[in-house]
Amino acid sequence: MRRPSDDIVSWAIIEVLRSHGVIHSQRKLAQMVAARLRDLDPAYAVGEGRLRRIALRIPQVEVQVELRQGGDAKLDGCPCCGARLHARWGKDLFGKRRLQGRVCTACGLHMGAEGGVPSRYVFIWRSGRAQGKRRRGSRGSLDAFPST
Ligand SMILES: [Zn+2]
Repeated sequence: MRRPSDDIVSWAIIEVLRSHGVIHSQRKLAQMVAARLRDLDPAYAVGEGRLRRIALRIPQVEVQVELRQGGDAKLDGCPCCGARLHARWGKDLFGKRRLQGRVCTACGLHMGAEGGVPSRYVFIWRSGRAQGKRRRGSRGSLDAFPST
């Protein structure tokens, strides 16, 4: 087994998401990225956790986590990086202020308002997103990625 560089993994994630738009599970993304990587080198392997961390650094990729109730279902910090969460507010049908979801300002993970146990990660390609725009906090830049 060989460990591909972050740039190569980013390239494979971009290739897979650009052609599929949305991928509804981390395992599925990992399988598809692994297939791409094997085209380059049959010995390449990448773990799901590392894959998710790299995906979070790509400006055009939005990572959402689906949460479920259970156990001590209170989310104190980002399930991905542990940073503080930023609440997103909206209005309900009656015009009352209502918590819509939460965003991690450190890694960019999006999540719903309910539940506290991560159950599923969803990866979304946002092609219209300008580089670095609409992003808060410190993130990697696209400059490091191969342009192929
Ligand atoms: Zn985070």
